[in-house]
Amino acid sequence: MVTRFRELPCPMCGVSGGLLNGAPLNQGSSELIVGCRSCLEQQLKSANKASVLALFLKPATALTAISRNDATLRELERRKADAGTPGIQSGSTAGNGRTCSNR
Ligand SMILES: [Zn+2]
Repeated sequence: MVTRFRELPCPMCGVSGGLLNGAPLNQGSSELIVGCRSCLEQQLKSANKASVLALFLKPATALTAISRNDATLRELERRKADAGTPGIQSGSTAGNGRTCSNR
């Protein structure tokens, strides 16, 4: 069931073939995003850029978000595309993934 879900095309770029991953994205609040590995990295990096701007408004929140996103990026690097993440394995991501609306 979980593996089958992860074989779906990436909801962000629509590319199929790789296994999907999930990652917590921190932008003040935390949300779980689902996509292929390169999309997740892209989302996390752009979230960090946004958080840098937020440093001036909410320094503590932004710093926490950046360090969490960096940790998630490192985690993605460490686990290869086929390793999955706790978020995916718990099955809590159904219907909660990001769509292509940002493209
Ligand atoms: Zn993708």
